[in-house]
Amino acid sequence: MSASMPALHIQTALLAHPQLSAALARQVWLKMENMQPAGSFKLRGIGLLCQRAVADGARHLVCPSGGNAGFAAAFAGAALGVKTTILVPSTTSAAVCRRIREIGAEVIVHGSVWDEANQEALRLCAQPGTVYIPPFDHPDIWEGNATLIDEAVAQGRELGVEFDAVICSAGGGGLLSGILTGMHRNGLAQVPLIVAETEGAASLHAAVQAGELVTLPAITSIASTLGARRVAQQAFDWTRRHPVQCVTVSDAQAVAACLAFADDMRTLVEPACGAALAVAYQNLPVLAACKRPLIVVCGGIGVSLAALAAWKEQFSL
Ligand SMILES: *Cc1c(COP(=O)(O)O)cnc(C)c1O
Repeated sequence: MSASMPALHIQTALLAHPQLSAALARQVWLKMENMQPAGSFKLRGIGLLCQRAVADGARHLVCPSGGNAGFAAAFAGAALGVKTTILVPSTTSAAVCRRIREIGAEVIVHGSVWDEANQEALRLCAQPGTVYIPPFDHPDIWEGNATLIDEAVAQGRELGVEFDAVICSAGGGGLLSGILTGMHRNGLAQVPLIVAETEGAASLHAAVQAGELVTLPAITSIASTLGARRVAQQAFDWTRRHPVQCVTVSDAQAVAACLAFADDMRTLVEPACGAALAVAYQNLPVLAACKRPLIVVCGGIGVSLAALAAWKEQFSL
């Protein structure tokens, strides 16, 4: 990739969270990745991977994800002017398929579960010029995601703020691998990373407990974006060389955090992001030792006023 090629992602705001800062008597900071043009931080890592693939001659990008990864790949493919195909299982809603088609990608429904859609994606990639774009398990994805920490540290420096904890959520661990890459190259190697998952999607927590990678039998959380049954080896390895504290929150707590965040910051985020926000909204004990936490507001396109209202009802909030 030529050094002059502009990134597909934008620099997002670093904001103070006034209500949480007051309630917790701490400086609670937010990195507003929900403002990325593709709706989540995913554009950083997947955007870089797609950009490098096209620079290396790819003419067709194939991504097995009906979620934010697929949406970011579709966005990147359109921006780079290459054909992009998103493989999704039949459980993916018509609305999601339409949304991905609207930004110019082809959507192929294949199989009834993600593994079947993934197999078909891998089969398509046997064609010359066709490149597989995984949702989280690739070094270019981690490198791209790391830029959010480069930015946050530089923005914090201008405000005279040094973060003493970082909070994020985890699905397959591409976000956390990127964040830790960024923390280590910006002098935050001693700063703890607090990683939130929802009950029923806690594959990182399960791996840390077991001391080895674990494949969950099923995902039972509504936070489908966090629903990787097994995390990337890289993410697990990071937990061995960095102070990583895994916490799990309930779906209800994640949704409650989304609702409070909507009121406080006038911003809608997915329950996958609500899981990270819930660490602060629930004032979990893991925060006791920190004074200036940075929450990565990962965002997500799988939310709407109607969806939030339905979850509010489902969990009697
Ligand atoms: C992808 C995603 C996550 C989880 O990221 P992983 O790299 O899979 O750990 C969390 N929140 C949102 C909004 C996402 O799009």
